[in-house]
Amino acid sequence: MTTASRKPVIVVGSGLAGLSAAHGALKAGAQVHMLDRAPKPGGNSIKASSGINGAGTRFQKALGITKDDSFYSDTVRSAGARFTETSPPVDRKTLVEILTSHSESAVNWLADELKVDLSVVAQLGGHSVARTHRGGGKLPPGAAIVSALVDELKANSNFTLENLAEVDELLTSEDKVKGVRYHAEDGKPRELEGPVVFAVGGFAGDAHGLLAKYRPDLAGIPSTNEARPASHGLLTAIGAAFVDMDSVQIHPTGFVDPKDPGAAYKFLAAEALRGEGGILLSGTGERFVNELETRDVVSAAIMALPHSIVDKTRQWEVTLLLDPGACEAAGSHIGFYLWKGLVQKKKVRDLSPEVIASVDKYATMVSEHGADPLGRKAFGHWKLPPGEANRDEEVCVGTVTPVVHFTMGGVAFDSQSRVLRSTNGGSLTPISGIWAAGEVTGGIHGANRLGGSSLLECAVFGRIAGAEAAKSLGDV
Ligand SMILES: Cc1cc2nc3c(=O)[nH]c(=O)nc-3n(C[C@H](O)[C@H](O)[C@H](O)COP(=O)(O)OP(=O)(O)OC[C@H]3O[C@@H](n4cnc5c(N)ncnc54)[C@H](O)[C@@H]3O)c2cc1C
Repeated sequence: MTTASRKPVIVVGSGLAGLSAAHGALKAGAQVHMLDRAPKPGGNSIKASSGINGAGTRFQKALGITKDDSFYSDTVRSAGARFTETSPPVDRKTLVEILTSHSESAVNWLADELKVDLSVVAQLGGHSVARTHRGGGKLPPGAAIVSALVDELKANSNFTLENLAEVDELLTSEDKVKGVRYHAEDGKPRELEGPVVFAVGGFAGDAHGLLAKYRPDLAGIPSTNEARPASHGLLTAIGAAFVDMDSVQIHPTGFVDPKDPGAAYKFLAAEALRGEGGILLSGTGERFVNELETRDVVSAAIMALPHSIVDKTRQWEVTLLLDPGACEAAGSHIGFYLWKGLVQKKKVRDLSPEVIASVDKYATMVSEHGADPLGRKAFGHWKLPPGEANRDEEVCVGTVTPVVHFTMGGVAFDSQSRVLRSTNGGSLTPISGIWAAGEVTGGIHGANRLGGSSLLECAVFGRIAGAEAAKSLGDV
């Protein structure tokens, strides 16, 4: 073995993309040195709650879905007009083709090699069949996948994980990436040589930095992602190209925590809360939107209301109210939110007169099967009657605001997960010595990511990046 081949593959970021890359590199025979600035591995990946997409899996077949050939077209439809944009000329078709055609093997890898339970399959918005996989137990899918991978990697003597290690610079020589400079827990700068897999996540949590730069209209809005500065600037410094940076996914409901109302980080209020019967009320106590509309429509309706600025965080304080029927149906979520103090149980008589009036109006419409002027057609498990009969009933109440959830844009990359730069002629060419995977990359999701496809891109392109970086070791 030459000295060069003993250099490790350096993986920056220990979310699912980084962990998958480490797995791919170890499998290809390399040593791996993983660096993460956070105190623990897992990044935002650990928070993922809906699951990972897979088309053609045995878990779908067990549900009677014997054929699933629409994942590619669902992804393209969701990406919208952005999918046909050609500047910079990222090969979107090939990336989506790889994502979707490798999805079954990604799910099998996690289920068979890592023994992650992915047996429950749900149909999320924008998917034409059920293909989002998670486990049957209480552990959310992100945490289940991350912990299985971390355990597996830590058992490998060729793997080193260094937390509280922030990469400040990508080291280059003659236009090639040669390694990284980082500062470790002791604050001392260090250098490490080797091929680099860059898996630092997105910029949804960088409210006053990259988000403000690319989407000034969203500056200061809270996020479901940890509030942290993005690391994309390290790629800019080596001339990498970026794509779709203004495509940002907003989720309409993140909880405003009464204990820390101005926090930039908000806990996601699951879509199921509205699906099971929850309603949204403005600051003046009125309903203002069909709560079952798509994420973008509900978010836009909330954002048309007056906002407030709390500790530099720009937010809308909308009441999410579930009647006893909806509370019960959403029990698995509600129990947790009650425990976290994000939702309170209140008797109807203790609500404001404006809210009581809206609850009565809505309850009358539901009980009389009337037409909702806002267009809502399904009322979930709402069973609260109108009028005096409901005053001693307990409803579940929380305050929610739109939150920045996911950034579709990122660094341009190719089918081998190589980071690309623009040439003078406008084409894209790989930068030697660096690969990328996960939310830091752009070009796959276009204007809108399908739920479940982010964990998938981490697993698919992370493993490709790790294997390719390992293969390059002789050249570094
Ligand atoms: C609440 C929530 C629920 C979600 N649910 C789902 C879901 O059900 N399905 C789905 O597909 N997607 C879901 N997503 C999206 C998905 O979880 C993320 O997009 C994905 O996990 C990103 O993974 P990643 O590895 O690219 O980045 P991350 O998991 O964010 O990891 C990046 C890591 O890089 C580290 N890092 C950054 N900069 C540096 C630096 N300079 N030096 C060292 N380390 C650095 C960070 O500390 C972090 O640990 C959800 C997201 C959230 C927030």
